[in-house]
Amino acid sequence: MICFLLIVAQTYNPDIAQIVNRVNVDSVAKFILKLQNFWTREYESDSMYKARLWIKDKFINLGYNVTEQIFSYGGREQANIIATKYGLSDTENVFIIDAHYDSRGENWGVPPYGPAPGADDNASGVSLLLEIARIIKDIQFDYTIKFVAFACEEPGLIGSEYLAEHYSSNNKKIKCLLNADMIGGDADYINDTIIIERDEDNTPDTNNLKSWAFADTLKNSYTLYTNLNTVFGPVFGSDYIPFEDSGYTVIGVFEYNWNSTYHSAYDVVDSMDVNYTAEVIKGVLAFILYVARFYPVEVTEIEFGNRFNFKKVIYDISGRKILNNKIKSGIYFMVTENKIKKILKIK
Ligand SMILES: [Zn+2]
Repeated sequence: MICFLLIVAQTYNPDIAQIVNRVNVDSVAKFILKLQNFWTREYESDSMYKARLWIKDKFINLGYNVTEQIFSYGGREQANIIATKYGLSDTENVFIIDAHYDSRGENWGVPPYGPAPGADDNASGVSLLLEIARIIKDIQFDYTIKFVAFACEEPGLIGSEYLAEHYSSNNKKIKCLLNADMIGGDADYINDTIIIERDEDNTPDTNNLKSWAFADTLKNSYTLYTNLNTVFGPVFGSDYIPFEDSGYTVIGVFEYNWNSTYHSAYDVVDSMDVNYTAEVIKGVLAFILYVARFYPVEVTEIEFGNRFNFKKVIYDISGRKILNNKIKSGIYFMVTENKIKKILKIK
């Protein structure tokens, strides 16, 4: 028997465009400035802890469920910050969007540390997490989305090693992990291209095809919803690597014009291009809306026991009319008197 794989091409969706246009340059700049103003986010510094609390609070204030994966490194307690948005249909097979929040400067590892504002590397990546989290906080998805801010990337992917180990040893599933590291571009250049990083590593090679497929989808997202050009590049030297090594599907975004101030006191917001960062964020937002399957309309949740009070005609996901006494818990569609589609999640 021949099995046909149904491939639905991603076409322009005005609902996605409308949400993508909520990416706000001032909001992105504010996140980056706040992080750069911690002076340093080196893993052995006190202000690393302050940055951790600030990021954690941001996610909590946006209404996310936030946990920390705590570990010890450099004689200090460190934490990966994990903010979760649970999907309506699938809570096990997650999408992860990640960025490291630590930075490094010139006096690397030599106290007292010099300034390490880390605007491009990698407040820009953290701003992607926070801006997307801000915009999708009230939007529902089929799949679960996790935002992860990693600690201790700079001393050697320490934080991501811990989380990858936790995921693989517990057989936890990841649909795709998208890493954002250095998406600020360079103020001295025209920044009109994003590198989409995909898995070209053959140890293992079992995860490469899926990575390339997601990279293609991300490329389409940039073409449909942003003014950026795209080029492909390999994943290397950032927090997706421990996940790639464990066999997970990973992709990344990385600036085309490599900012020359990184790892120095001059890596500040004025050396990068915030308009470019906002465009990079738009592409990733369009991607996650599409692949994690967002609901363009309001979702109403009702308790299973109350389902018989429900007088409307409702349909299952494939469009079949469902009799009221045949309703089980799950996702349904409803059309109200004024023809507005609603989605019901019956628990
Ligand atoms: Zn970095």
